[in-house]
Amino acid sequence: MSKLIARLILAMLTLPLAGTVFLITLVPLAVTTTTGGPDALVAFYTWLATYTFVVIYWYFIWRDGIAWTRQRRDGTIIAAATGAGASVAAFTAIRAGLPGVDPIGAVFFSGGLAPIVFVTTTVILWRETSEERAARLAARGVEVISCLACGYNLTGLKAAQCPECGAEFTLDVLLAGQRRETEV
Ligand SMILES: [Zn+2]
Repeated sequence: MSKLIARLILAMLTLPLAGTVFLITLVPLAVTTTTGGPDALVAFYTWLATYTFVVIYWYFIWRDGIAWTRQRRDGTIIAAATGAGASVAAFTAIRAGLPGVDPIGAVFFSGGLAPIVFVTTTVILWRETSEERAARLAARGVEVISCLACGYNLTGLKAAQCPECGAEFTLDVLLAGQRRETEV
């Protein structure tokens, strides 16, 4: 099994595992509910534990496959904080705008925003740029596809048109040209 496949399987397990953490931390909530009324603070801790799990688990799945730059490092911390902020903002808005909603219900409803914001933001943030991909493939010795007209590195592009000189190729011409160059 390749590393990527293993990561994808682990990533798919994020939701059920988060649900498990949620249920485990929900036990104190159930206890307080039966003994002396529901406690919004316990609901908050349940959300906090679940969200912290998602952030740490998601980070550990992908961290080895990410080209860590300062921007990505800072962005990841900001994404985690923004997710939490989005939940707190949604909770505040629900409490202010819909006073009839139970505070525990408001915690759980707004709590779902945090992992969604964090995971979505990190997927965009951690994605490899075409320059990084070209550098990675070059470092591994993979043949770099270059423009037949000007030699510009076309690795990672989704179209067979050179962004540097504008020359357009069909894929067969482009590949045939690469072979000729490597033979020389
Ligand atoms: Zn070119």
